[in-house]
Amino acid sequence: MTAASYPVIRCDGEENLGGPCDNEVGLPGATTVAEVRKGNPDWHPRPGGRDICPDCWKDDIR
Ligand SMILES: [Zn+2]
Repeated sequence: MTAASYPVIRCDGEENLGGPCDNEVGLPGATTVAEVRKGNPDWHPRPGGRDICPDCWKDDIR
């Protein structure tokens, strides 16, 4: 398989359990990051283009 060329969003939670969070998510058929966000309502876009995954959001990031 070749490297994926579809967009993904990555979690920018940086204070989760003492280290950066490596979660990322995509969306089948999506061609833009905006579509990925729209298809993953459990993820939380933050100012500055950051995204927070559901796990980190539950912890303490507001
Ligand atoms: Zn996370």
